[in-house]
Amino acid sequence: MIKSAYLHIPFCRSICSYCDFCKYYYYPDMVSSYLSALQEEIEKYYHQEVLETIYLGGGTPSSLSLKELERLFQIVSVLKRTSTCEYTIECNVEHITEEQLQLMVRYGVNRISIGIQTLQPNYLSFLNRKHTKEEVFAKIQLVKKYFQNINVDLMYAFPGQTMEELEQDLEDFLSLNVPHISTYSLIIEEHTMLYNQKIEPIAEDLDADMYERIVEKLQNYHHYEISNFAKVGYESKHNLTYWNNEEYYGFGLGASGYQGTIRYDNTRSLSHYRKGKYRYQEENVSLKEQLENEFILGLRKIDGVSVDKIKRNYQMNPLDWQFIQKLLEEKKLEYQNGFLKLAQNYWYLSNEILVLFLDNEEWGVEE
Ligand code: SF4
Repeated sequence: MIKSAYLHIPFCRSICSYCDFCKYYYYPDMVSSYLSALQEEIEKYYHQEVLETIYLGGGTPSSLSLKELERLFQIVSVLKRTSTCEYTIECNVEHITEEQLQLMVRYGVNRISIGIQTLQPNYLSFLNRKHTKEEVFAKIQLVKKYFQNINVDLMYAFPGQTMEELEQDLEDFLSLNVPHISTYSLIIEEHTMLYNQKIEPIAEDLDADMYERIVEKLQNYHHYEISNFAKVGYESKHNLTYWNNEEYYGFGLGASGYQGTIRYDNTRSLSHYRKGKYRYQEENVSLKEQLENEFILGLRKIDGVSVDKIKRNYQMNPLDWQFIQKLLEEKKLEYQNGFLKLAQNYWYLSNEILVLFLDNEEWGVEE
C-alpha cells in the first residue's frame, strides 16, 4: 500500500554550478501549463490512498509566485493525508517570504527543507547560490515563527576547502539550531557547469576526514542515515520510505515512483510531459532486485536492515548467506538486536560494501 508521494517542481530562478537535477529556468508561461499537466497526472494515477508523507521537491518549489504556489497546494490537496502526515516543501533561502510561509501553513505543509549548502561567500559564489550568510540567519528566524520541523542542507568537499572552513560552516549550522541537517559531499557530475569548467574533486582522504569531522561535530543529533542527522523525533519520514524500500508515488517531470513491483521513471522532456506523455519507462522489479534494494537502501540507515523483515517478506534468512557471514567476519557488517548494519568504519565507504549486494549469486531467487 502506497503511503508516500513525491512531487517534482522543476523550476529554478538561477542554476547552481553543481546541479544535474531535472530543472528548467523559471518562466511563468511554463509553470501554468506544467501545473495543469501535473494535475492531470495525479488524476490519472492516484488511487485514493491516505498518505503519511508528501514531499514537494525540485527544482525549487519556492521559486513559484504566491499565486502559482497556491495553485500547486490546491492540486496537491486532492491527495488524502493522515492527520500526522509529514508534508515537506523544499525552499531556497532567497525566496522565502512571510506571505509564502503563511500560505504553506494554511495548506497544511509542516516541514520545510532549505538549501543552504554553505555560509561562506567564496563557496556560495562557487556554487552559484544566491543568498548571503546574514540572509540565512534572518530567514531561519522567520521560518521558525511558522515551522518547528526544519531541515537544512550542508555541502562540503569544495575544491580548496580546508578543514577549518568546514569547521566554521559546522559551527554556523549548529548555531541555526534546527532539528535536521542533511549533508552532501560535492560531486562533480557530468552536464554541470563545474564539470564543463573541468573542476577536480578534492582528494578522497580529505573528503573522508571531512565526513568523519561532520559525524563528530553533529554528535548531539541522532545520526540515523549515513548523511542525515536529526533531533530525536525529527527524522525524515519521507526519506525513510525510500530507505525502507517501501512504495511511493513520483509525480512530475523526471520523478520516479515504486508501486507494487513496478518501478517507473517519468519523462525529463517538458514538452512530452505537458502533452501528457508522463512515463518514460516502467520496469518490473524482480524478487532478486527487491532483495538487493532492501540491503542497498536499508544499509544506509545506521540501524541497518531488520533480519525479521527479510524473513517475513522473502521467507529467507540473510544470516544463512555465506557472503553475509564473510562480511560479518571481515567486520564490515555487524549483527545486533536482530539488525544487520554497516560497521562504523564503513559508513564513509558504504558504496564499496553496498555494491557487493548487486549481482550476488547467493540470493537463491530467480532474476
Ligand atoms: S541545486 Fe536545486 S536550486 Fe540549484 S539549480 Fe539545482 S534544482 Fe535548482
